[in-house]
Amino acid sequence: MDLMKQVQENVDLLSQIGSDPTGGMTRLLYSKSWLEAQQAVKAKLEEIGMETRFDGIGNLFGRIEGSELPEETILSGSHIDTVVNGGTLDGQFGVIAAYLAVQYLVEKHGQPRRSLEVISMAEEEGSRFPTVFWGSKNFVNEAKPEDVKDIADSKGVKFVDAMRECGFDFIPAEEQKLRDDIKAFIEIHIEQGNVLENEGLQVGVVNSIAGQRRYTITLSGQANHAGTTPMGYRKDTVYCFSKICSEAIERAKTLGDPLVLTFGKVEPKPNTVNVVPGETLFTIDCRHTDNETLKSFTTDLEAFMTDTANEMGIDINIDLWMDEEPVPMDEEIVQTIEKVVKEQGMNYRVMHSGAGHDAQIIAPHYPTAMIFTPSINGISHNPAEETKLEDLVEGVKALAGTLYELAY
Ligand SMILES: [Zn+2]
Repeated sequence: MDLMKQVQENVDLLSQIGSDPTGGMTRLLYSKSWLEAQQAVKAKLEEIGMETRFDGIGNLFGRIEGSELPEETILSGSHIDTVVNGGTLDGQFGVIAAYLAVQYLVEKHGQPRRSLEVISMAEEEGSRFPTVFWGSKNFVNEAKPEDVKDIADSKGVKFVDAMRECGFDFIPAEEQKLRDDIKAFIEIHIEQGNVLENEGLQVGVVNSIAGQRRYTITLSGQANHAGTTPMGYRKDTVYCFSKICSEAIERAKTLGDPLVLTFGKVEPKPNTVNVVPGETLFTIDCRHTDNETLKSFTTDLEAFMTDTANEMGIDINIDLWMDEEPVPMDEEIVQTIEKVVKEQGMNYRVMHSGAGHDAQIIAPHYPTAMIFTPSINGISHNPAEETKLEDLVEGVKALAGTLYELAY
């Protein structure tokens, strides 16, 4: 089997479905192109001899029964949906890699001892409806119909109507249980960062998904005339923000990797040239792979922000609205992947993921790990998202080798 040719052909084939005239790919949950893509994957899975089925909400599965331990399943896959004007690899490469790896293994070694399954998950991105991880959450029985019953997309189309239009309904109550046959889940995904590329590596063995805390902070001082208010009489919230921001980033740099800290949104009011800004709203996104470090860093930061504002006579409101703990990957599977890529002579590193993935939803329930392939210039969620073909092929080989270790 010519993997190079197969990877190229399959990425090209699926990328036509949802190709957006305004750039890149747009394949939103329960849209026409989404359904078409799932059906194209289904046809592929059947072509390579897998038995296929959809669950109630549109997660697609392909299965090859194991010869000796059919009741133990090794699963691989990713999500089929994209962001608006996204690239051709985020998500779907993990689906393609999974079925190509299975095809490669079956052609070379025949039927596996354990069952092999591929999953093409319905949704991960949250780009059409205000919900994320709909696919993986349903797979691990964590999704509830109440979560989506009242939500709609930006055009007012209700989630439930879009789902039914595609021929799906909620997973029936009698089927809502956690499967007990899954012995491992491996997700391969593009890195969406530039660590592998900068280090000249082809494969990332992911040992952890970073936890994250997100805040919205409001500083309330006093808006005043920029000409008549002497410097000593001001409650300038931009000045306060700048002190907080620069000190916080220095602290983050001092602590170093893998901590990352971002002040992504800053909105001073009234945002006018000749008025002292009386209010400033800003956000903080902080991530780390160790929960204790994440917590202590951000707790210290909260205290520092409060002190700084108080000293300047400025009121501060700190709203922590996302607090997600890091998710470690399964140590044994990480070691298996490492062994495989070492044996195959690949240049690799063990690393964490700074971005969220389906694997973090699945990991608390089943032994889970991830493999990364490099992203050119670290670009993702963008039509320019790209990975060298040779690197994609190395990723498929790493995945196939790992599935072989686990299922044969
Ligand atoms: Zn993704």
